[in-house]
Amino acid sequence: MAAQANVDPAELAKFSELASRWWDPNSEFKPLHEINPLRLDWIDERVSLDGKRVLDVGCGGGILSESMAWRGADVTGIDLAEAPLAVARLHALDSGAKVEYQAISTEDYAETHAGEFDVVTCLEMLEHVPSPGLIIEACAKLVKPGGQVFFSTITRSPKSFLFAIIGAEYVLKLLPKGTHEYNKFITPAEMDKDCRAAGLTIKEMSGLSYNPFKKRYSLGTDISVNYMASYTLDSEV
Ligand code: SAH
Repeated sequence: MAAQANVDPAELAKFSELASRWWDPNSEFKPLHEINPLRLDWIDERVSLDGKRVLDVGCGGGILSESMAWRGADVTGIDLAEAPLAVARLHALDSGAKVEYQAISTEDYAETHAGEFDVVTCLEMLEHVPSPGLIIEACAKLVKPGGQVFFSTITRSPKSFLFAIIGAEYVLKLLPKGTHEYNKFITPAEMDKDCRAAGLTIKEMSGLSYNPFKKRYSLGTDISVNYMASYTLDSEV
């Protein structure tokens, strides 16, 4: 087992329980399916995935991992929940996507794979972890100097409480109740502080918004609920 316990077993249980429906686009994972083309393009436009060695941290059932592999990246996905990983492996067998999946903590993986990746992605995961700063530090360790790290999460703001919890879980029922806890949300400033400490420099930040009337997601400048950030690892390490 990992020496450190930067994991909340209740969080892993939540995702494991739902794992069989991970690839059902009308399930609890519908939001991930709907945002995937947007975030995939956002990443691809910034790093040109084709031919890149990519690590997808907290990959779950592999929605993002597979899509990056289809763009030509050599993708490894890691997570600590066994059931989603089993679903991810089966889905890749079925679809023919070439992704390697491994059940291991980010911190442990960083011990043996430091500086191996051109790109590290860690999307919709930090808000489920007790100490997100340690995950950020491990991601910085895993990427090559000059490489890029992508994070996405939810900020803490009155608007995010209203939209990401009340709206998404209770009113629109896009996500099961209890999916997110407000006090685990991370502001862009908090993320940036942890990233700087890890030697990562911000390149760009974009908001991801949901329009309940059009039932559409879009990327833009509004970072008051969900946001994506790209960072580079300073070369002079
Ligand atoms: N990144 C994927 C899945 C997001 S769901 C996507 O955006 O499509 C959040 C994932 O984080 C789940 O698969 C859950 O098992 C994983 N997770 C939660 N805590 C973790 C931890 N401490 N270490 C690794 N993975 C974790």
